[in-house]
Amino acid sequence: MGRIIAIANQKGGVGKTTTAINLSACLAESGKKVLTIDTDPQGNTTSGLGVDKDELKNTVYELMLDECTIKESLVKTEFENLDLIPSNVNLAGAEIELLGINEKEYILKNAVDYIKDDYDFVIIDCPPSLNMLTVNALTTANTVLVPIQCEYYALEGLSQLLHTISLVKERLNENLQIEGVVFTMYDARTNLSLQVVENVKNNLDTTIYKTIIPRSVRLAEAPSHGLPINKYDSRSTGAESYRMLAKEVIDRKDL
Ligand code: ADP
Ligand code: MG
Repeated sequence: MGRIIAIANQKGGVGKTTTAINLSACLAESGKKVLTIDTDPQGNTTSGLGVDKDELKNTVYELMLDECTIKESLVKTEFENLDLIPSNVNLAGAEIELLGINEKEYILKNAVDYIKDDYDFVIIDCPPSLNMLTVNALTTANTVLVPIQCEYYALEGLSQLLHTISLVKERLNENLQIEGVVFTMYDARTNLSLQVVENVKNNLDTTIYKTIIPRSVRLAEAPSHGLPINKYDSRSTGAESYRMLAKEVIDRKDL
């Protein structure tokens, strides 16, 4: 059976979506069958994988409201081995529409159960808050990968996230594990990035991925072309680092 990884951190702008897109694409490039699920109403993972978010009949929103089946919500991306359940701004209303619905924490999980055996990895991009969509992602996942931006306030909010993860584990998904932490937007020219990495290593008792994602203009540009970094600029440092991260993720024997 494959692994379902939620990429979560309630802070915005830390590299969740960039990691969801490029980790998915690099896992797919190495021959793994991958499904990426966009649970952020901003739909940046959807557009970053070359799918027009305004031209969609079914998205994760219709799926969660039981207006389509999971198979109907699947989109084949133009990249080999890589499927997507897309999202767009409609999803912003889901939280309210799900009020009063029974077992609403399990909606995504119950849907993904139908198709998870078709994939080696399911990568779920979470919105920048600890809301019902994030809870659905954490309930569906086997593990949580936490991107940490190499900046001064890196650790802020992390204890709240870890607390949320432990509550979900206690009450909704007893097998949930922490996949680990991945540092993003590392700037080798500053001492600050290095200090942040050292500080997190000294203060967090979780797996820390050896691969550190550098700050790179190419990584920031790629989504506007609807391409993951390995297709946009295959030789760039950004592409090389997400390939290394994918290899580390694949090689984990403990999960
Ligand atoms: P989140 O999903 O956590 O909100 P994003 O992945 O959308 O974060 O990243 C926030 C912004 O930073 C985006 O504009 C993105 O293109 C940019 N970005 C993310 N990772 C990098 C990186 N390694 N180098 C340069 N820019 C990055
Ligand atoms: Mg995002």
